Amino acid sequence: MDQPFDTRPFPFDNSYARDLEGFYVPWQGSKAPKARIALLNEGLAASLGLDLDASDPMLAEILAGSETAEGSMPLAQAYAGHQFGGFSAQLGDGRALLLGELLDGEGQRFDLHLKGSGPTPFSRGGDGKAVLGPVLREYLMGEAMHALGIPTTRALAAVTTGELVPREGLKPGAVLVRVAASHLRVGTFQFFAARQEWDKLKTLADYAIARHAPDLREADNPYLALLEEVSRRQAHLIAQWMQVGFIHGVMNTDNMTISGETIDYGPCAYMDHYDPATVFSSIDHMGRYTYGNQPPVARWNLARFAETLVPLIDPDNEERAINLATDVIADFMPIYKEAYHAGMAKKIGLSSLERGDDKLIDDLLTTLRGQSIDFTSTFRALADTLRSGREPILTLFEDREGIVGWLERWQARLSSEDRDGAAIADAMDRVNPLYTPRNHLVDAALVKAEGEADLEPFKALLAVLADPFTKREGLDSYVGPAPQNFGPFVTYCGT
Ligand code: AMP
Ligand code: MG
Repeated sequence: MDQPFDTRPFPFDNSYARDLEGFYVPWQGSKAPKARIALLNEGLAASLGLDLDASDPMLAEILAGSETAEGSMPLAQAYAGHQFGGFSAQLGDGRALLLGELLDGEGQRFDLHLKGSGPTPFSRGGDGKAVLGPVLREYLMGEAMHALGIPTTRALAAVTTGELVPREGLKPGAVLVRVAASHLRVGTFQFFAARQEWDKLKTLADYAIARHAPDLREADNPYLALLEEVSRRQAHLIAQWMQVGFIHGVMNTDNMTISGETIDYGPCAYMDHYDPATVFSSIDHMGRYTYGNQPPVARWNLARFAETLVPLIDPDNEERAINLATDVIADFMPIYKEAYHAGMAKKIGLSSLERGDDKLIDDLLTTLRGQSIDFTSTFRALADTLRSGREPILTLFEDREGIVGWLERWQARLSSEDRDGAAIADAMDRVNPLYTPRNHLVDAALVKAEGEADLEPFKALLAVLADPFTKREGLDSYVGPAPQNFGPFVTYCGT
């Protein structure tokens, strides 16, 4: 006898749908003409305790949003947001659906979410679709981020829909299947604050605390503690971005999570030459989201988050609430700088951050400025200097004046480390990536994938980036900056 088809590979437990009625619209995905799983993240599936078969046609339908799995309650979430500084009271999931939540082996709750599954009541004239290039880009960027040890949403699968979607010509339609600690955003709070729906805001804050920081329920002021916690997580997140040269590109408040995970990889890119003014996004005309602006922009976003929480922090005394919230926001930069310098200290081989080390770190970056030195490679070259002398680092510099003096100071500082040079160099290589998603590599892989339906270069790049720290034979073409003829790089939102 034929087995009945198992429509329930996912043991859903949907707290958002259950506890937050009025925060979303129940919605179904569009019918994909021919859903096919192009890529399944088997490692992630296994770590989440999911037993998925990429060749299963029903799974493809479910992950395209065409069919609803048993236990799923697909919904489009409401949120608002400041985009490039301007407030939109209603954004929301215009092309996304939350299928539901699952618990992993450790009882951690995560969202199973689709991006590109068709229009919703929040689409605002958009077609609700996504195309293969940007879907694969988000897949790759998230996996690279995860391998770097940086909190991020991750791709579980990329599904092609069999549809051609108009985007500067016709492009293959696709859906990104994404997992996240949650999809609560600063913009989710702004949605209800803008409508002055204080009861809903309290429900949302209580939900966020229960889901992301349950210990805070015991705090004297749980809502102030929530602000502190989100601010701390974002400070650590941005510090990690800065340490690897990651530029998010669209740090709008709807793209900032409450969980502290990186979300919504659009026009993001890794900086090649060190320059705080680096910006790649074609839509960022004012340079609002440059590399160097990311910490102050995060603080600005958190100030918007703080504003939404004021009525909860002290419902009877607004001035007191504002003062308390302002103090938290004022602490953001010191917390960020501490996290940033602590991480940078490890990158230059220091086991702890001592007095004066922040200056040593900042001065290294000053010597890089204005020279065409690859940011990522610099730190590996520094480690090599400890193994084989100064040549590896000096050859990178056109103007060696600054770096020679800096190397003296650095090596004097390292002499107080309780380890020999080889051990320090090895420790440095464990935190300084050799392989990052360089713009020219990502571009080349996506051109093959989208243009020629050849996923092999993409898969090869994905495999390299899964272990960014360990040097392997035969991967030299993945190291180092773009060839000269690659030209200036511009990223596009690709919606
Ligand atoms: P993003 O720039 O991806 O963070 O998206 C900002 C807002 O635009 C969100 O509300 C999205 O749901 C919406 N959006 C982006 N692309 C589309 C699209 N193709 N169709 C409908 N809504 C979209
Ligand atoms: Mg977004």
